[in-house]
Amino acid sequence: MEYVSPEGLRLDGRRPMEMRQIRAEIGAVSRADGSAIFEMGNTKVVAAVYGPREVQNRSQQMSDQALIRCEYSMANFSTGDRKRKPKGDRRSTEISMVIRQTMEACIMTHLMPRSQIDIYVQVLQADGGTRSACINAATLALSDAGIPMCDLVTSCSAGYLNSTPLLDLNYVEDSAGGPDVTVGILPKLDKVTLLQMDSKLPIDILENVMQLATEGCKAVANYIREILLENTKQLEYRRGLMN
Ligand code: UDP
Repeated sequence: MEYVSPEGLRLDGRRPMEMRQIRAEIGAVSRADGSAIFEMGNTKVVAAVYGPREVQNRSQQMSDQALIRCEYSMANFSTGDRKRKPKGDRRSTEISMVIRQTMEACIMTHLMPRSQIDIYVQVLQADGGTRSACINAATLALSDAGIPMCDLVTSCSAGYLNSTPLLDLNYVEDSAGGPDVTVGILPKLDKVTLLQMDSKLPIDILENVMQLATEGCKAVANYIREILLENTKQLEYRRGLMN
């Protein structure tokens, strides 16, 4: 199948190096200590953070750092076909672990010993790249909860179809069976905290695809900074009104 037309356009009209439209909203779940919705094109996820709070299972308590837990799930209505097992299957367990490890790289856990932070991420609408969208939503939700972090983790994926590196694959491109490289970075510290790939790629092409995904992560980071700044301004404005 042709995923890039002779004019250089993808099936959804994007250029190879173009990301889908991103949109974020802070504070979507008022019960949570921090929350956010993050959209990458038609992929839409929500993240809710609880904590730092008392460790529920005392045997897991750590005297020198906080315990981070993460649960990824997909809503039954998030895909075209009805999702039978929204959580607890192998894929969800793997993605939960990947997101937890990625978020642990930026949370300053040593500042919150003997406590627990729960990160829940749920896919409301799935169209490829849900793990990246969940990491971006989790970063915003953790910031909203006031959890100390050394940087903002952001994530984006890129693939390789019809001999062309493609940024931010959607579901149709993802299910083409080509390589899908998901990258997570700490933009300020200039570090890679996540690198996952399905399928195979020659090393020189992998470098190109990874570079493209990293550019996507940086674009997400710029957007997330803008959203956080805007949110802080609004909070200050509201505080000003109350005083
Ligand atoms: N997907 C689906 N049902 C499932 C699992 C995945 O429809 O049970 C779709 C969904 O759009 C997802 C895509 O397949 O985004 C690719 O899944 P993958 O495991 O590669 O994870 P993702 O790219 O979402 O991080």
